This record gives sequence, C-alpha cells and structure tokens, in this order.
Amino acid sequence: MAEYRVQKVRDAFLVLNAEGERVGPFWANELAAERERLRMQVAFDTRLKRGLRPCLSCNAEFQSQGIHNRLCDACKDHAASLGREMAG
Ligand SMILES: [Zn+2]
Repeated sequence: MAEYRVQKVRDAFLVLNAEGERVGPFWANELAAERERLRMQVAFDTRLKRGLRPCLSCNAEFQSQGIHNRLCDACKDHAASLGREMAG
C-alpha cells in the first residue's frame, strides 16, 4: 500500500508520495503538513476503492482491499473451487 509521508526541509514541511516526490505546497508547520498528508492518503484510498463495496457476484457488501478485490470471500472461495480465478 502506498503511503504519503511528511518530511521536514529546512524550516518548511512537505508531503511526499510513495515515490518520494513532493506533492502539494510547502507548509510552514508540521500540523498543516500532516493534515494535508492525511487528506491525500484518504483520497488515495478512495481512488483505490478500498472499503465497503458490493460483491460483483452476489451483491453482498464486503470489505474490499482495493479495486482488484471485487468478490466477497464466499464468492471468491466459490470461484476458486470452480477453478477460475476471478478475484485477482
Ligand atoms: Zn459475493
């Protein structure tokens, strides 16, 4: 899972992505930078569609680990037992 992090540079703070690239502006204090980091992390997780989502097969809500994770555990087991790997 990609993580954003806050780094201090001289007398400013900035937010880095998982590749170590600066994202967003320089911040005068660590709290502001940390808030921005959290906002980006939440946006990132949302893009990956982590969280509750309906199963593609049975439509039951389940806790998805990401966009690749589209079947609930029951359907994943079922798909695996049929010999077709649908759950990535
Ligand atoms: Zn299901």
